[in-house]
Amino acid sequence: MADLLVMKFGGTSMGSAERIQIAAKLSAEQHAKRPVAIVVSAMSKVTDLLLNTLSKAEEGDATTVEANLEALKTRHIECARELLPADRHEAAIQGIERLVGEFSRIAHGMLLLRERPPRSVDEAIAIGEQLSAFLIAEYMNSTSVAAEAVNAARVIATDAVFGNATPIMEATRERSAGVLKPLLDKRVLPVVTGFNASTLDGKPTTLGRGGSDFSASILAAALDAAELWIWTDVDGIMSADPRVAKNARVLPEVTYAEAAELAFAGAKVLHPRTLAPLAERQIPVWSKNSFRPEVAGTRIVPKIAEGHGPRAVTSMTNIAMVSIEPANTAISGTMVMAEAIEALSRAGVEVPLITSSSYTQSFCFLVRQAELERAQQFLEERLSLELAHGYLKPISIDKEVGLVAVVGEGMRGTPGLAGRIFMAVSRQGINIVSMAQGSSELTIAMVVHRKDLEQAVRSIHDECGMGQPA
Ligand code: ADP
Ligand code: ASP
Ligand code: MG
Repeated sequence: MADLLVMKFGGTSMGSAERIQIAAKLSAEQHAKRPVAIVVSAMSKVTDLLLNTLSKAEEGDATTVEANLEALKTRHIECARELLPADRHEAAIQGIERLVGEFSRIAHGMLLLRERPPRSVDEAIAIGEQLSAFLIAEYMNSTSVAAEAVNAARVIATDAVFGNATPIMEATRERSAGVLKPLLDKRVLPVVTGFNASTLDGKPTTLGRGGSDFSASILAAALDAAELWIWTDVDGIMSADPRVAKNARVLPEVTYAEAAELAFAGAKVLHPRTLAPLAERQIPVWSKNSFRPEVAGTRIVPKIAEGHGPRAVTSMTNIAMVSIEPANTAISGTMVMAEAIEALSRAGVEVPLITSSSYTQSFCFLVRQAELERAQQFLEERLSLELAHGYLKPISIDKEVGLVAVVGEGMRGTPGLAGRIFMAVSRQGINIVSMAQGSSELTIAMVVHRKDLEQAVRSIHDECGMGQPA
């Protein structure tokens, strides 16, 4: 659809009645000019609350489950009362109670069985987005903007990797054409739930935490949209997380490749997989602040004409460094590495960084803490003989680490840059545990101790002059 605009509103942009009104106004303004579809996150902190409820159900903690269910219901009902005219309250409360009831049914099933099957988790946590989509669609309808809440389980098709599913684009295109095009043709604004989807045979899935960005980009690609605007709570993509570097600056333009590297290296402003579906179709993306819509934001584009140096520095926590080292030279380090990588790939574990030393034949890599147990299990199984016979030292794991990454297309072939970056960090007395330059030459990454992470980000940010002038 040549002139379609897809917009996504994140958790803070949907976080209260007042924020929902603003999101609706921003949507209606564009909808008056061209076809618009929006994708919404759950109200801020709701997904955490839902996940906590399911964990507590599995533990058998009925008291917390009931308290959480009450909190969930109250938050949405209070929001509906504030948001909607009185004659719509009753119907809205019924709608909210129905959705909370669906969640409650699954949570109570888990409480009974003391089990939390991933498929049921995905079905349950998608309720957060269904509640927020319902609220904003009701509000728009009350202001005479025709809108309809659409469950993305009817629209986005994925594989069956529950909790971190991957879209199947062809099927998603067909489903979008069937479900969303008729609404758009009637000038009804579809309000699609972010974060969730379903398999080809209809089992509910989710796209990973923060996945609503990804939902929006999948839909923008599937519908051949003209643009995607991602509304969040900062002015755009910045030279660093503004919570870490106070003088961080908004970047007016970044390339798809830079944005993707930043997201993969921990910049929470975008879900790591957001850019892939768009880059293929070269759909322009804007990252904008719903609290300050008058600010232009960041434009993500295929290419930036003039050269530019390092653009942003980002950090990642909740990771662990795994080190594997042969105990003697009787064993080939390359072979061990091949076996380890194969084990990680079979485990479906992502490796954000890997480095090796040819002398000791040792190597180390990062995995996310959430995937650590699985990674360890697959590695120990695969390398069991080598470990049992003492060819390998015991696998060592360090959880007190963080990853710092400097990103910028213009860093390619800039002599002395890596040296300056490492010097800036060393001057602060920070020990660099490991370092790597990605083969894309877009990123220089290093692992430091967790306690030094924020300081490392700030010293690189200052050394490269990335921030606002003082
Ligand atoms: P949403 O709920 O809208 O999806 P998120 O909380 O997921 O928003 O992402 C926005 C947050 O990302 C910002 O509040 C900011 O603290 C954080 N962030 C981390 N790195 C960056 C960066 N380089 N640029 C902008 N924001 C960043
Ligand atoms: N609500 C989901 C989460 O908190 C998805 C999102 O907000 O992008 O992870
Ligand atoms: Mg987000």
